[in-house]
Amino acid sequence: MPKIQQLSTSVVNKIAAGEVIERPASAVKELMENSLDAGATRIDVTIEHGGAELIRIADNGCGIAPEDMPLTIASHATSKIGNADDLFHVRTLGFRGEALASISEVSHFLLRSRTHDADCGNEMLVHGGSVQEAQPCGCPPGTIIEIRNLFYNTPVRKKFLKTTQTEFGHISEAFTRMALAYPHVHFTLKHGTRQVHDLPPCQDLRERIRVFFGEEIADQLIEVESENDQVTLRGFVGNPRFSRSNNRMQYLFLNGRFIKDRALQHALGEAYRGLLLHGRYPISFLRMSMPPEMVDVNVHPTKLEVRFQDSGRIYSQLLGTLRTKFLSSNLDATYRPAGEEAGTTHGDNQSAEALREELVAWAKGAVDTADSNGTAERRQTDFDLDFRSPSHPPLQLTPIDRSAVGAGSLPLPPIPSGVTPAHLRDQEADDAESTDAAHMPTQGGGVGSQQRAIQLHNRYLIAETDEGMAVIDQHALHERILYEELREKALARRLEVQRLLVPETLNLSAQEFAAVDTAIETLKQVGIEVEAFGGDTILIRSYPAILGRRKPAEIVREVVDQLLTEGKNLEKRDLLDELLHMMSCKAAVKAGDRLSSEEIDALLELRHLCQDAHHCPHGRPTALVFTKEELDRRFQRT
Ligand code: ADP
Ligand code: MG
Repeated sequence: MPKIQQLSTSVVNKIAAGEVIERPASAVKELMENSLDAGATRIDVTIEHGGAELIRIADNGCGIAPEDMPLTIASHATSKIGNADDLFHVRTLGFRGEALASISEVSHFLLRSRTHDADCGNEMLVHGGSVQEAQPCGCPPGTIIEIRNLFYNTPVRKKFLKTTQTEFGHISEAFTRMALAYPHVHFTLKHGTRQVHDLPPCQDLRERIRVFFGEEIADQLIEVESENDQVTLRGFVGNPRFSRSNNRMQYLFLNGRFIKDRALQHALGEAYRGLLLHGRYPISFLRMSMPPEMVDVNVHPTKLEVRFQDSGRIYSQLLGTLRTKFLSSNLDATYRPAGEEAGTTHGDNQSAEALREELVAWAKGAVDTADSNGTAERRQTDFDLDFRSPSHPPLQLTPIDRSAVGAGSLPLPPIPSGVTPAHLRDQEADDAESTDAAHMPTQGGGVGSQQRAIQLHNRYLIAETDEGMAVIDQHALHERILYEELREKALARRLEVQRLLVPETLNLSAQEFAAVDTAIETLKQVGIEVEAFGGDTILIRSYPAILGRRKPAEIVREVVDQLLTEGKNLEKRDLLDELLHMMSCKAAVKAGDRLSSEEIDALLELRHLCQDAHHCPHGRPTALVFTKEELDRRFQRT
């Protein structure tokens, strides 16, 4: 029978640290929360080596009296609540009294603090949970906490730390969340010798958004505001043009606390239904406030999730506010880019006007569909959501350098049996089918002597083959051909690259920056040359020529989203493959593109050049073959 024993305080604290302090960024978050709780109006964050070496947070808050200093690192010691009842009226960010106890248990910890009415400060040095030294010292009013060698005595945790860049990415994200939640507080962030941010206090959240996410996004934000029986909602949501392929840019704050809430994320998605393509997520910076009694913040170790007393009501308020906003009659004024309002000539008026019209159109579209009892098919608005849109320039088939893919005499591999036409359905295809009759290419202009193909529904090609007949998915086939071409060239480092005369800049979040930084070599292999350009901005020097008709920043943006897509921790080779897939998919003709007879012929000819013409890079079939025998059998000729 195993013996039961009481764990020591030190072990208890280490266990708590395991839950609360996952990585340096968690310590940064806890310390910044403490500074805000102490009423600080200025908070300086200094980091060395991604926080593994040093995290220093200095604030000008209320400070800590010398006699209270030892209590700060005692577990379950807090100045923020006194009894269990208080747990349901929490007005501060912290309340459990375990952060400093946990952090000081697993680091070399220094606390220096001075209250505003004291003549001098005091400092306390703690190593692995035990106080080494406490004595008076000189320091400005407020509190400075230094954490060195985090996890020095918990080697397993330390082993889980990622690269400096990655850890700093997480820290920077934690910093961003705080800075967005408290625009009136002055924050600075320094990494080594690099001053990453210096954010003076501001009135308008939009200013902070501009610093972190760039002009373009900030200028196109849609302001929302509502108040409903003590629950207020304020902030901004993004123009659907700036959607993302994951929900990382959905910032939601509740009573000054960054939270994640599935229901509210869903409400947001719901509000944009019909405005964004499947798999795209809106951007948001929303601040909610409500009396603390209406929410339980004590349900998650890092307080990232909360439980609302009436989540249904909050859900409806968010959804309702956004829908009303999208419909509201003064849309025109709302969407005027910020610069214009201030009387400057920011952006050109014509495009601003066009944008306003688009927004009105999509807002109406959204509400029409939302009101039609919810079950009706959603109608695609004519807003320019994607490169598939008809307003984009017509496709061009890229001629393939035959020498790049061999002699051009690769035999067609056999068709897998049991493939049914249902597999051919292109999920993402534009559903607006052409009503044109089948599109017959001119004869004789083609290349393949035996080939004659017709295009059906601007999507499928039907061709006669020696054995019978093939039904070809034009997008899937072209994608496959381009993929093989690009792959050959990328591996041989011969991919055509478009250099930019004037390099473009792109603002990234710190996490995105870190992701790009680690993938820089692979990106170069596919023709995307980028380099750091101060802060979290990158400079785009070149992009793959095959994507020539698209904007470089747009291409890189999509690649970055791809790098960060949840659950994708790709090996270098897989990443290369992934990028090549993406590029070939983007560059290929789309389902819905009308092809000229020359293009059909060119596509069919190229078909013989690729090694696996029967499957697109995603593994879907590119063609179905019906043999003469099968046709005969179906028509009961045999
Ligand atoms: P909690 O924030 O949950 O109370 P912590 O372990 O984070 O627990 O902090 C313990 C206590 O130390 C706080 O309740 C607060 O009284 C004090 N404290 C921590 N950081 C600061 C600071 N920057 N300024 C003033 N007091 C602080
Ligand atoms: Mg705290």
